[in-house]
Amino acid sequence: MSETYQDETLHRAASARALTHFINGKVLDGTSGRFGDVFNPALGSVSARVPLASVAEVDAAVAAARAAFPAWSETAPIKRARVLFKFKELLDRHHDELAELITREHGKVFSDAKGEVMRGIEIVEFACGIPNLLKTDFTDQIGGGIDNWNLRQPLGVVAGITPFNFPMMVPCWMFPVAIACGNTFVLKPSERDPSASNRLAELLKEAGLPDGVFNVVHGDKVAVDALLVHPEVSALSFVGSTPIAQYIYTEGTKHGKRVQALGGAKNHLVVMPDADLDQAVDALIGAAYGSAGERCMAISVAVAVGHIADELIERLTPRVKSLKILDGMESAAEMGPLVTAVHRDKVVGYIDAGVAAGAKLVVDGRGHQVAGHEKGFFLGGSLFDNVSTDMKIYREEIFGPVLCVVRVPDFAAAVELINANQFANGVSLFTSDGGIARAFSRQIEIGMVGINVPIPVPMAWHSFGGWKKSLFGDHHAYGEEGVRFYTRYKSIMQRWPDSIAKGAEFTMPVAK
Ligand code: NAD
Repeated sequence: MSETYQDETLHRAASARALTHFINGKVLDGTSGRFGDVFNPALGSVSARVPLASVAEVDAAVAAARAAFPAWSETAPIKRARVLFKFKELLDRHHDELAELITREHGKVFSDAKGEVMRGIEIVEFACGIPNLLKTDFTDQIGGGIDNWNLRQPLGVVAGITPFNFPMMVPCWMFPVAIACGNTFVLKPSERDPSASNRLAELLKEAGLPDGVFNVVHGDKVAVDALLVHPEVSALSFVGSTPIAQYIYTEGTKHGKRVQALGGAKNHLVVMPDADLDQAVDALIGAAYGSAGERCMAISVAVAVGHIADELIERLTPRVKSLKILDGMESAAEMGPLVTAVHRDKVVGYIDAGVAAGAKLVVDGRGHQVAGHEKGFFLGGSLFDNVSTDMKIYREEIFGPVLCVVRVPDFAAAVELINANQFANGVSLFTSDGGIARAFSRQIEIGMVGINVPIPVPMAWHSFGGWKKSLFGDHHAYGEEGVRFYTRYKSIMQRWPDSIAKGAEFTMPVAK
């Protein structure tokens, strides 16, 4: 599966192809004249150029979605579900191909990319149940021959703006549910790993989705801003960093749109003195360094409670030093490169800041090289001890393979520390005490909680989302929350002439 390019210059010339938008069922070249580089992070070379859309190109995508809306929203939910069933079959068939696309642009290891594809497929499977999900409540005879029932109707054109770290899974948090509900969709994926989105568009078309129902427009701030103010866009789903999430929420709602904007994270894993330490160490290694820490549910802080701290550091150290860091297409790889050199250097800046602030750098991943991939965007795993809450490496999201250990005296101090953090996406507790687990689940102010589970990403039929600065808006993503976000609730009261009494009524209607 893995391919090595002997001649990098030749590779660049041959493969730095221009990617395309996908609008109204057609592949379209970019016309703005602006492009962004897409890298193969393991090689450090440019593999493609992504077109950065102009306002006119965004308008064309929204116009296509608008034109497709009346027919699609009137299509019976069971027929919409049949398209998604077919799409799911195609995703199964192209599972490895999609995973390879992800690894080659994002850098995560192939087995992890396959897991990402699976998590995307699961949302499609959930969305296949849309006839049942759109079934509504009916109250017979609320009084005087009147019945009361409700509808959940689609919003119209909805847009999704997604981050680099899950180029398939995060778009799948949005569009399968949105289009199953009868909306039409414009996706603006991350410009850093854009290819998976185009492949999804092609597979949707092959599955029988009518043209214009799903569109992909690539771009940067210009495209995002055009979607934010577009009068035909009814709702926006965003996933990305907190400052941009805050901006999207403020601007989108200002322009009358329904917005859900999921932001950044700083996820803690608490190790209680009664935890199984082998299990806790395994969990920390996988959750902190998997995908090079570029996951919004990555564990970036280990909270060591009481006397366990020294032994925890002792056991983590050799594991971090021996991480198998390779091109993600190598079957032995546990961790691949970071997505870009710019991002890798930003993470290095955080490690420098941690050292300068006086944290103890137990394992230093800076300057890590991978043989044969000297230009790749690699970084070794780093481990800090004695991190305090005033340090930048604790306060900010690093989004790289860096684990900070914070020592606290007891359970109450752990809960207090975590609840004081500005982010509240995920959290985990390792313990063998059921009472402590229950107290933690109830007291912790975080959207997603794992008890002896390091990365508690909810399944497709539950919903995903954090609290505080990890989510702006009222609805979490996918699951039933997703159906609510992508539909408008309508209540209908109905009676027929033979139950209507003569004469005007001037009092507030009540059940008779
Ligand atoms: P990002 O915020 O840089 O980019 C996200 C999207 O916003 C991209 O499509 C990008 O093109 C667009 N964008 C970037 N700058 C913009 C600007 N100034 N104006 C308008 N649009 C802009 O995020 P990223 O680096 O791609 O992804 C990593 C971040 O996403 C991390 O903070 C991570 O925690 C977060 N994330 C959160 C979740 C979650 O569920 N809460 C899930 C995945 C990723």
